[in-house]
Amino acid sequence: MTSRGSEPSCVLCDQSATETTEPSRRTLARGLDPSDSSYSVTVILPNIALCAEHAFDVRQGERLVGWCDNPRCRTYGELGEPSPCGGPYEKLGPGKRS
Ligand SMILES: [Zn+2]
Ligand SMILES: [Zn+2]
Repeated sequence: MTSRGSEPSCVLCDQSATETTEPSRRTLARGLDPSDSSYSVTVILPNIALCAEHAFDVRQGERLVGWCDNPRCRTYGELGEPSPCGGPYEKLGPGKRS
């Protein structure tokens, strides 16, 4: 992924982003022992940067942005697609309500 200067690039492609969206908050395990739920904290994820084209798609629900919380990634990508660590990007949004 290339980024020119401080210009953010779209999380779904390499075009420069025209807008950023505040993501919904979600609770993620961030402890030494991930099996201990008391380590779960609400993590404020960075804003989602999108190019005009993808911002439109996301708004229409044609594309969904996911997040990979693997320490090696912690990036956005297209939901369900493999991230650089090999795991899929996971659904954003509150809790396990769906
Ligand atoms: Zn894009
Ligand atoms: Zn990953």
